[in-house]
Amino acid sequence: MSNSNVTVCVRFRPLSHKERKGNDKVCFNKLDSESFVFKDERDEDVIFSFDKVFYDDSEQSDVYNFLAVPIVADAVNGINGTIITYGQTGAGKTYSMEGPSILHCNELKTGLVQRVLNGLFECLKTSANITTWTVKLSMVEIYLEKVRDLLDLSKDNLQIKESKSQGIFISGATEISIMNGSDALERLSEGIANRAVGETQMNLASSRSHCLYIFSVQHESTPDERVRAGKIILVDLAGSEKVEKTGAEGRVLDEAKTINKSLSALGNVINALTTAKPNHVPYRDSKLTRILQDSLGGSSRAALLCCCSPSWSNSPESLSTIRFGTRTKLIKTLPKPIPTEVYSAKKPSPYSHDQDDLHDGTL
Ligand code: ADP
Ligand code: MG
Repeated sequence: MSNSNVTVCVRFRPLSHKERKGNDKVCFNKLDSESFVFKDERDEDVIFSFDKVFYDDSEQSDVYNFLAVPIVADAVNGINGTIITYGQTGAGKTYSMEGPSILHCNELKTGLVQRVLNGLFECLKTSANITTWTVKLSMVEIYLEKVRDLLDLSKDNLQIKESKSQGIFISGATEISIMNGSDALERLSEGIANRAVGETQMNLASSRSHCLYIFSVQHESTPDERVRAGKIILVDLAGSEKVEKTGAEGRVLDEAKTINKSLSALGNVINALTTAKPNHVPYRDSKLTRILQDSLGGSSRAALLCCCSPSWSNSPESLSTIRFGTRTKLIKTLPKPIPTEVYSAKKPSPYSHDQDDLHDGTL
C-alpha cells in the first residue's frame, strides 16, 4: 500500500484472441509485482514502478483487495473515496469495474462495483459502533459535458451543486436506498442497459462517455448521534485514445474533443494536487472534475487503475496511460484523510444558513 492517500496501479489485460491471431507480441517485461520494463518514446527501455502492477494472471479479487478495500473501510468512517479506471478503449476499464456482466458472472470474475458494494455492507454490519445506516446509489454518465441520469433517462442534463451539508452533489439525480448488494445489482444493470439504449439511439459507443457509480453511506453512531457520511465514486472513464488516431470527424470529433478536454482537466487537477501547496486546483474546468471535487484530493482517498493492452500494436497508447499514472503517483503530500460529517435531525445543524443552492448549476 502506498504511503499517500492516492494509490496508483497498472493492469495489463491478457492478449485478446485477435491479438494472438495477428501474432501481436507482448510489449512489456515483467520485473516484479510493482515494476516492469517498457520502451519509452525514444525506444529506450525504462523501468516503471507503481504501487502494484497486475499482470494477465491477476484475479479481479486481487485488484479489489489492493486498491478498493482501504477506500471501502474509510467510507464507512465518513471519508470520501474515488476509484478511477483510465486507459484506451479495449484496455479493460469496464471489465475491471463490472466484470464480464454485472448480473450474471461467476464469483471469480465479479468486478469492482459489486465487490465495493458487498464490502460496504460487510463493513457496516460488522462495525460495532454503528447503530443505523443507509447506503444510497446513483448512476450517471457524462456525455458531451452533460450529466445524464442512468437510473432515469428523462433527466438528461443534471446540474452539479454544492452545499455545506452535502458537499458536492448532482442535483435531482435519482438516489435509491439499497439494503444489500444483490438489491443494487438489478438497478445497476438497468443503468448499464440505459447506457446501451443511449448507444443505439444516438449511435454512441459507451467508450465515449464517463460512467459514474456513486455510493453514499450515512450512519449514526452513538453516543453523539452525529451522522457520518462518506461516499465512494467509481469512475469508468471514456477511452483515452488520441483523436488523430481515430480519424474522427463531425459529431465523433466533437465527442473526442470533449473527452480529451475532460481527461486533460482531470490531468490538470492531478497536476495541481501534486504540488505541496496547490494555489488553485481547477476542479471547475469540467463536469467530471467538479463532481470529483470532494472525493479526489484534500481529505479523501483515491485509487487509479491504469488499464493497458499488453500488445505491441497498442504500445504508444499504453505508454501514454502509464505516463498518466506516473504523474498521478506524485500526489504524495496530501493531508491525512479526515471524515466528513453531517448532522442528524436530532441535533440542530451548526450551519443555520445552510444553502443547498450555494452554487447553482454552473460548474
Ligand atoms: P474498455 O472498457 O477499457 O474499453 P473492456 O473492459 O470492455 O475495455 O475490455 C475489452 C475486452 O477485453 C473485453 O472483451 C473484456 O472482456 C476483455 N478483458 C479486459 N480485461 C480483461 C482481463 N483482465 N481478463 C480477461 N479479459 C479481459
Ligand atoms: Mg468500457
